[in-house]
Amino acid sequence: MQKYQAVSVLNVPLDFNSSHLRGPAEAPEVIHEAVFNGSANTTAEMGINIGKDARIFQAGQVTWASENEAFSAIDAKSSELSAKQHKVLTLGGDHSITYPLIKSLAKKHDNLTILHFDAHPDLYDVLQGNRHSHACPFARIMESGLAKRLVQVGIRTLNAHQAQQAEKFNVEVHEMKHWQPRKDLKLTGPLYVSIDLDALDPAFAPGVSHHEPGGLSVRDILGILHDIDVPIVGADIVEYNPKRDINGMTAMVCAKFYKELAGLMLKDCET
Ligand code: MN
Ligand code: MN
Repeated sequence: MQKYQAVSVLNVPLDFNSSHLRGPAEAPEVIHEAVFNGSANTTAEMGINIGKDARIFQAGQVTWASENEAFSAIDAKSSELSAKQHKVLTLGGDHSITYPLIKSLAKKHDNLTILHFDAHPDLYDVLQGNRHSHACPFARIMESGLAKRLVQVGIRTLNAHQAQQAEKFNVEVHEMKHWQPRKDLKLTGPLYVSIDLDALDPAFAPGVSHHEPGGLSVRDILGILHDIDVPIVGADIVEYNPKRDINGMTAMVCAKFYKELAGLMLKDCET
């Protein structure tokens, strides 16, 4: 198992692979503001104060000269942090960014399990002519053999094409229609956690581009996160769209996931 020493928080202001609305590029700044605006303390439920812990680094934001170069810039930045034994927690972006993030992490880990929270399987081979659409990242990841297991939770939009893709790539799909809180997902490590905010019911997280009713509660996701007993080597919080938010409600949900994920990721970091 690779050793890690710290968690780097990396902002990814990218939303040009969104199929419907722009907005997730503005998410990182709003999430930071929600974590540190003083309305809540910065201690995760498991007891680590992520506002005070010296093993948390703010890595700034990924930049790119043109859209064509964005994925390689994300991969390069993530690889650079990884070479310093930092785990990477990214904030913001549409879901397309998970592909370059996993690409970078797969260089270090050849047996990744991905825990993917989403209303959507994001397994389209192509959408609207874009193979890098935010609806496609897990097709790219699985066809390239970048992960050993893909475990999806919160799914409630499984159409025929994506059901076929899920079967082709042996995806473990936990559909909402069969959901039970604290379901045992038999997760294995090293684990990457990808949280698409639309996994939640829109009642809990209105600030997303695609409202899909009948979703998870915040506590459903926290319950799964708190049950994880294998090392989390990377994570992303994607698809938060501040333009659709109401009173910063969804920003605070992102802030909560930021605190909890950072705390859990620090658990096996050496001091
Ligand atoms: Mn998604
Ligand atoms: Mn989604």
